[in-house]
Amino acid sequence: MTSMALVVMCVAMFAGGRGLAAGSVGDVLRVRFGGDAERTRVVLDLGSSARGEIVESGSGGSVVLTLAGVAPPRALDGAGSGLVRGYRVTGTGTASRVELQLARSGEVERRFLLPPGDGVPNYRYVIDLRGVGPARAANRQAQATVPRAETRRTERPLIVIDAGHGGRDGGARGANHNESALTLAAALALKAELERTGRYRVMMTRTNDAYVDLYQRVRIARNADADLFISLHADAGSDPATRGASVYTLSEQGASRAVREVTRGDNWHRDLHLPGRDPSVDRILLDMTQRATQNRSAQFARVLLSHIEAADQPLLRRSHRDAGLAVLLAPDVPAVLLEMGFITNPDDERALADERRRGRLMRAVAEGIDRYFREPSAPLQIASTGGGAGGQP
Ligand SMILES: [Zn+2]
Repeated sequence: MTSMALVVMCVAMFAGGRGLAAGSVGDVLRVRFGGDAERTRVVLDLGSSARGEIVESGSGGSVVLTLAGVAPPRALDGAGSGLVRGYRVTGTGTASRVELQLARSGEVERRFLLPPGDGVPNYRYVIDLRGVGPARAANRQAQATVPRAETRRTERPLIVIDAGHGGRDGGARGANHNESALTLAAALALKAELERTGRYRVMMTRTNDAYVDLYQRVRIARNADADLFISLHADAGSDPATRGASVYTLSEQGASRAVREVTRGDNWHRDLHLPGRDPSVDRILLDMTQRATQNRSAQFARVLLSHIEAADQPLLRRSHRDAGLAVLLAPDVPAVLLEMGFITNPDDERALADERRRGRLMRAVAEGIDRYFREPSAPLQIASTGGGAGGQP
């Protein structure tokens, strides 16, 4: 089912990308709202992929952005909800102008494009708004929830650990073990390591041999407002001599490298990959990840690798591989996928199945996480996309 859903999604993305390249313009289907007066999510359902750019950031009482690639046949307008009093979407031929009138001062906390998926057949452009200014202070008494941006400064970082595969999806097979069992054991070991430090909150995408949909894994990280998402896997190759750990992040070159992986035919994680079929698909993959998050993911990947190496764990020669992996598509949570070693290599499989050696590897990973959160250049605050900074390329 998952593979099928992914295939459908790839095809949809491919078609969308081609449509865009050919110069056709998609429709703006409708505008939806969620959340409350403090934080409001605006979702624009789109007939194709689009590229957003902020024109007005909300401090003056309205948010205006342009969406290139989509235009409504006629103007859409209506009442909003939460922070948004009303909206108006007008078309300018090949682009849309989206105007959100706010009930008070606000800011764009994040915005991103989602491809068709999760049972939604169309693209979505999501804008998360946050109220700022005096009204917020006045509301605080009545507000049951503390705004997350304030929470984040005082709370310990939240790490979401994703044990790859599970349930009916056993992942790659070694001589004696299924990948899904090794990733769960490693995830539990990493959880224990991180909790032992007292410096992190930890959440797992699964804690037993359960099947969890790939997009559900991403949703868990996003809904929890995670500071870091780490997905654990074991690699597989046709050559039993190939061994070592490697780290994936999604990057500008990512999608094309993933294509080579799949074409080579030795990748058993095919269900995880969203290979780009042509450059326009690469663009869409890129659009889904904000550059700021990309940089932070890459930074974490480097730190992680240095710690794994320091723990005398073998590394695959070019160990920081970038790829378009479904679980890395949370657009606003720094995310990496760690291939802990090759389950098809007898030494690696033994090491991953051995509690002590697995524990040592996870200690190195925990140290990498520690280092990442202590680096002065790695601010805990996820970069805001307000005003276009850190926005889409
Ligand atoms: Zn895997």
